[in-house]
Amino acid sequence: MAWFKKTRKPIATPSKEKASRVPEGLWVKCPGCSQVIYNKDLAANLNVCPKCAHHFRINAAERLRMLFDGEWIEFDKDLVSTDPLNFTDTKPYKSRLKASIASTGMKDAVIVATGAIDGVPTVIASMEYGFIGGSMGVVVGEKIARGIERAIAARMPVVIVCCSGGARMMEGALSLMQMAKICGALARLDRQKLPFISVLTDPTTGGVTASFAMLGDLNIAEPKALIGFAGPRVIEQTIRQKLPEGFQRSEFLLEKGMLDLVVDRREMKATIANALRFMGATAVVSPQSTVVSPQSSVSETTEPSAINDQPSAISH
Ligand SMILES: [Zn+2]
Repeated sequence: MAWFKKTRKPIATPSKEKASRVPEGLWVKCPGCSQVIYNKDLAANLNVCPKCAHHFRINAAERLRMLFDGEWIEFDKDLVSTDPLNFTDTKPYKSRLKASIASTGMKDAVIVATGAIDGVPTVIASMEYGFIGGSMGVVVGEKIARGIERAIAARMPVVIVCCSGGARMMEGALSLMQMAKICGALARLDRQKLPFISVLTDPTTGGVTASFAMLGDLNIAEPKALIGFAGPRVIEQTIRQKLPEGFQRSEFLLEKGMLDLVVDRREMKATIANALRFMGATAVVSPQSTVVSPQSSVSETTEPSAINDQPSAISH
C-alpha cells in the first residue's frame, strides 16, 4: 500500500554553509535599528552604530586601545585562579577557566595597565565580559587592588572600566571578599587625594555595582548600559510590582542621581582626560617617564621612592 507510506525521503534542508553566501563576520546587524553595517565601518566608529548610536560590547583590550594614547604596560598578566574551592557546577570550574583562557587569551577577567590618557599618566583596570561573564574572583580583586597600590606609589589617577556580571560564584565567599579589598585600596587612594573615575559599561551588575563601580569621584556610564544589583525579574518578584520603563539603564539612573554622566563612547576619552585635569592631574611631556615598571612588586608600595622617583603626576 504505497499510497499511504512516505516512500520518498523528505527534501534535505540545506546545510548552514550553503545557506549563507556572505563570508561570516563581514557584516553586522545592529540590534538597535536593524541596519546592516560593514564590520570595518563599525570598528572605525569605536563599535558604535553610525545610524542610531547603539553601543556594541567591546573587549578589554579594545577598551584600552580606545583610552590610552599609545602603548601601555600591563601588570600581573600571569596571575591565575587556583580554584580554591575545587568547585563543580554543570562542569568543573577548572575546565571553565581553561576554556576561557583559550578563547580570550587572557588569564582572568581583567587587564590592569598603565599608560597615558591624553598625556595624563593613569592606571586603568579594564574588565573582560568574555571571561566567565567578567565575574570578579580572587585574581580580578588582587589585580585591581595591586593596580591601585601602584597608582598610589606613582601618584597617578585610577580609571576602572566595569563590565561584569558580579562576583564569581565558583570562588564563593572568597570572591565577595574582593569587594572589601578593592574598596579598602580605593579608600587609601582617596586619602592620598588621587582621583578615581569609574566607567560603567553594559552590563555592570551584582557585587561590582555593590562595591567599586559606584565609588568613583566621578561615575560615568555609557548610553543604555544595564547597571544594577539584582536583575529586574528578581526585583519584580520580590516587591510584587511592575518596574518602570528603562529601569536599570544609564539614562534612568542618571535622572535618579545614581550616576554623574552618561557619555557616548566616542567622547569618553576626552571626557575622562578633562575630568582628570579638573581633579588636578597633569600631563607630563614624556608619558614614559612616569610609567611604573611592571617588575616592581606590591610590597614595595610603602616606599613610593622605590618604585618611582619621578616628579609626581598629580599636584594638590
Ligand atoms: Zn543602529
